Amino acid sequence: MLKGKSAVVTGSTSGIGLGIARALAKEGCNLMLNGFGDAAEIEKLRAGLAAEFGVKVLYDGADMSKGEAIAAFMKKAADGLGGVDILVNNAGIQFVSPVDEFPEAKWEAIQNINLSSSFHCIKAALPGMKKKGWGRVVNIASAHGLIASPFKSAYVAAKHGQVGLTKSVALEVAEAGITVNAICPGYVRTPLVENQIEDQAKVHKMSHEQVIREVILAAQPTKKFVEVDEVAALAVFLCGDAAKSITGTSIAIDGGWTAR
Ligand code: NAD
Repeated sequence: MLKGKSAVVTGSTSGIGLGIARALAKEGCNLMLNGFGDAAEIEKLRAGLAAEFGVKVLYDGADMSKGEAIAAFMKKAADGLGGVDILVNNAGIQFVSPVDEFPEAKWEAIQNINLSSSFHCIKAALPGMKKKGWGRVVNIASAHGLIASPFKSAYVAAKHGQVGLTKSVALEVAEAGITVNAICPGYVRTPLVENQIEDQAKVHKMSHEQVIREVILAAQPTKKFVEVDEVAALAVFLCGDAAKSITGTSIAIDGGWTAR
């Protein structure tokens, strides 16, 4: 039922966003990709997805930290794809520091990219979805949208905000055929986490394997990373017809982390 729908996935040049974009393309969705990276690599990715799945794939590198650029980005997606049926707010960054040493610029960047970009994209997408009487918004929050860890104040605040935004917007559009949900992954091994493994190994003077088991996955009961494909499959499910009554929820996919 997703064949022919159009989807915007922010931050889809890497990691979870790329996995979701790929999974939606496999279902027959046309795509607007977004995110940073090497221009030639991104073009290869764009053309590769289009050829593999026979769908239209556009790319725009709009900076999700810049609210004023987002309306134009969303208009380009709607014009190029014939509206935006599915919006996946995935772009995100991390920065770890004690709160009393947290650089203001990093705080601002995390709020803008991890939270405010979701607001701007949703604001731009909803009128078209309302007109069609159908829409899906999937916000990629985090287990850190439900619980906290020390030294991640900006990230935890932004992700809790994204969960709140999810609930509020879901209520506003509940009668319009539009669902709004958050996915809250535990640790998924993407470049965002690889960087943390590297940093923690230096700080704790541990090997990468030790950091993975004793630091990163210490709170994740399965002691295994969540796979990108698992998060992507959940996003596809939320976009499907079987999930039409699921709205306003935050679904943890975290190996049991938030069950503690
Ligand atoms: P990643 O670093 O692999 O990918 C992040 C993507 O966002 C990239 O495409 C990057 O280019 C893009 N991006 C970063 N800043 C941007 C900006 N200003 N404008 C536009 N695009 C920008 O990271 P990931 O692990 O795949 O993370 C994706 C999302 O999942 C994030 O919101 C993250 O908080 C969330 N998440 C990740 C994990 C995890 O363990 N990896 C767990 C829970 C939640």
